[in-house]
Amino acid sequence: MEQSFDQFKAALLYCNKCGRAMPVRERLLLVLPDGELYDYTCQGCNSSIGSKTERAGLKPAAARPRLGG
Ligand SMILES: [Zn+2]
Repeated sequence: MEQSFDQFKAALLYCNKCGRAMPVRERLLLVLPDGELYDYTCQGCNSSIGSKTERAGLKPAAARPRLGG
């Protein structure tokens, strides 16, 4: 099985209450100087499963095409 976990925005995370991997809701908790802190809430029981810090500036720099020549 290939691991494409990170590629999905709406990920499945293991929930202790539900006892299985559940779809989670991503919620922006905090905006940090470094990035943004997200909280993951189980859509089944609405309890917080985990959190993630998304670093700002992770995007690859877009190369600007040169105009003219
Ligand atoms: Zn749950």
